Amino acid sequence: MKNNVVNIAIDGPSGAGKSTIARLLAKRLNMVYLDTGAMYRAIALAAHEAGLQPIESQALEQLLAGIRLDITYHDGVQKIGLNGRDVSAAIREHAVSKLASDFSALQSVRIKLVELQRELAGRADTVLDGRDIGSFVLPDAKFKFYLDASAEVRADRRCRELRSRGEACDRETVYKDIIERDYNDMHRQFSPLVKAPGAVVVDSSDMTIEQVVTRMLEVINA
Ligand code: C5P
Repeated sequence: MKNNVVNIAIDGPSGAGKSTIARLLAKRLNMVYLDTGAMYRAIALAAHEAGLQPIESQALEQLLAGIRLDITYHDGVQKIGLNGRDVSAAIREHAVSKLASDFSALQSVRIKLVELQRELAGRADTVLDGRDIGSFVLPDAKFKFYLDASAEVRADRRCRELRSRGEACDRETVYKDIIERDYNDMHRQFSPLVKAPGAVVVDSSDMTIEQVVTRMLEVINA
């Protein structure tokens, strides 16, 4: 493990634009981008496929012990393998978002993934996005950001994204999902979503993607 790596933590609620921003920032800074939400999604998918409920159980412990996640990059795009199967597309299904929110509240799931995230972040200069990167996974990250946006703006963005892919969007349902996921993420017992000490808060509600990246680069290059 290199001990002089630079890590940038970007935390915040669902739909604030973390993954888009983190990817761009990593590209500009020639760093690796690690989407930690994808890891929670993959575990949730595996648990769901095994017929497990989102509660601590021996069956879940066994499943977690046998899971191998492979994070690879193809033309800069992160792919995720679950025991050798590419689940990069499957984890983006709408149903998996809710499952990921439920399973990510479990301590056994978080312990497994936090260990892996720390290991990956220690290998290279990395931008990580998630919920507890600056507060728990890498409290000593060189730069920490909390990317926020109002729930209304996040629901509008999500609908625009779905419609641009030709999918239908019921804005009210999307809005309610966002509120519910925020609540779950902020109120779970173990490692909830919080503004980490020292994190720079950026509210992207009225900002373009480019403005957010510029603001973060200002902080990083200050
Ligand atoms: O960011 P994304 O929506 O892909 O994350 C899926 C779910 O995984 C989130 O709703 C959140 O509950 C959980 N998550 C987490 N900690 C992280 C990243 C994601 O709890 N570091």
